[in-house]
Amino acid sequence: GGRGTLSVLVRPYGEGMKLVLSQDITERERAETMRRDFVANVSHEIRTPLTVLAGFIETLANLPLTEVERKRVLALMSQQTQRMQTLVSDLLTLAQLEGSPRPPSDRWVPVSRLMRTVEGDALTLSQGRHELRFRTEGEAMIAGAEAELLSALGNLVTNAVRYTQEGGCIDVRWTVRPDGSGEFSVKDTGIGIAKEHLPRLTERFYRVDGSRSRETGGTGLGLSIVKHVVQRHGGELDIHSEPGKGSEFRIIFPALRVQRVEPVASSSVP
Ligand code: ADP
Repeated sequence: GGRGTLSVLVRPYGEGMKLVLSQDITERERAETMRRDFVANVSHEIRTPLTVLAGFIETLANLPLTEVERKRVLALMSQQTQRMQTLVSDLLTLAQLEGSPRPPSDRWVPVSRLMRTVEGDALTLSQGRHELRFRTEGEAMIAGAEAELLSALGNLVTNAVRYTQEGGCIDVRWTVRPDGSGEFSVKDTGIGIAKEHLPRLTERFYRVDGSRSRETGGTGLGLSIVKHVVQRHGGELDIHSEPGKGSEFRIIFPALRVQRVEPVASSSVP
């Protein structure tokens, strides 16, 4: 988000106490507004599936349905329930990320293991509807929390599947760069994102197309989870996209968090 709009204004002139104080108050107001917006958003996101569910319960209770109709209503109810489950689970993930200490810098997670897990998930999600490519260029380990790293990568790959039409291509790649840093790239040939949306993309509940996101099971929280995880690992999230062509999301980890694994010394690979 555009944190510090005011501090940008204040810092160049910021000698007086008054300016510092007003910056402080404005930031507190901003935080309060954000909290209120967040609660309003959560309430809205929960109310919608609940309203739908209430309607279906009424239907089941009051209408004489055939067995086929009854099964259909139950399937739709299960879909709405799942939607709320995903929402609650994403909210919990965010809360945990905010409340827990930074991930360890001395626990090493092998990239190959992350890739294998994410590849399995992608195959399940895509159901053969996309061409999937997974490549590891340079075996390495990343210092951090495995569950968090998986959740970040998983969210990017889920989005790639969600926003890419049938027959499209999804390319997931790990590369070690010459300066010792490393990056994951998740690239798709999907619908793409117009430039004006890019700055707000990682905000909670921000969606380019709300109905498409909801229809495909999106909560609008995925990229804010990704951003959190990346920041906690001292990394950077880089987004490039072109409407109608596709998107590329890159997670870049600093050299300190990346350790190359020599292919021969296989005994040191966990
Ligand atoms: P959602 O659960 O809606 O996918 P995210 O936070 O993961 O929420 O993403 C926010 C929005 O960014 C999405 O609603 C979608 O509009 C857009 N988006 C994310 N990833 C992609 C992608 N790979 N291609 C096109 N649009 C994307």
